[in-house]
Amino acid sequence: MTTDTVPAGAKDPLDAAARELRARIRYVSARDELTAPDSTINKAAADEPVFVLRARDLVASMTVEYWEFCARNRGTPDDKLERADRQRRAMEAWLEKRLPQPTPAGEMPTVRTAHVERNHPHSVLRSAHPEEPVFAIVASDSVAQEVVEFWAFMAERNGAKPAKVDAALHVARAMAAWTSKRVVGLQERKPRPVLSDGSAGGGGVVLSAHRPRHRMVTLIRCLACDHSEKVGEPPYSEDLLASIAETCEGGCPSCGAQPTMDEATGLARRVLTTVMVEE
Ligand SMILES: [Zn+2]
Repeated sequence: MTTDTVPAGAKDPLDAAARELRARIRYVSARDELTAPDSTINKAAADEPVFVLRARDLVASMTVEYWEFCARNRGTPDDKLERADRQRRAMEAWLEKRLPQPTPAGEMPTVRTAHVERNHPHSVLRSAHPEEPVFAIVASDSVAQEVVEFWAFMAERNGAKPAKVDAALHVARAMAAWTSKRVVGLQERKPRPVLSDGSAGGGGVVLSAHRPRHRMVTLIRCLACDHSEKVGEPPYSEDLLASIAETCEGGCPSCGAQPTMDEATGLARRVLTTVMVEE
């Protein structure tokens, strides 16, 4: 029997990092999402399909950025966009990162409802670090389907397993089938009409707003001179992805700036970054 003299939480470096992050950014954590009565998950209908992004997921922050892009196009007010951007920044600052892994077969339903996310012990919200920044996308959000599709595209592009990508596309389809839609921050949730057989119908508002196109074309951009040029477009083969990655390690083709080594951290500081655009 050993005596545990380590203060609670000190064993987990994420706890310390989370405290620092909390002091800098007022973000919504997995615990907040589960416990706050007015959280996105807690306000969703019990049977509403949901997709929860967690900070550990390598492509989560860019997916939240895409949500902001889509929501802004639909007219979501600035305060809601600012809240999303806070989640995005907190996600970027989160220490632990990895590619999303497929859920073992049979462990969880592919399409998770708000009820499952709230209650299932293996849901994203219940398996994330309690302080981990999260962003919940619910089917009634008018941009839900395209944002989940974007996540699937980015996950695939970054090497996630096909099963994980397929599962996300399945969720996107379930969200498309949920017809009670609203623009976040502009419209209230509409109760779904009850059909004559007593079941909930899929009524509500169907928005015919313009659906923005996904950004699929990759540019490199020089952080020194702002030069940019196209380096890839779909289909992204293994070879193309490898060549884009290699290009990014090098110098700027326009101003000649070269990557440097940061003495303090020992990390290479690139001069080239990638940006995705529509065309
Ligand atoms: Zn340059």
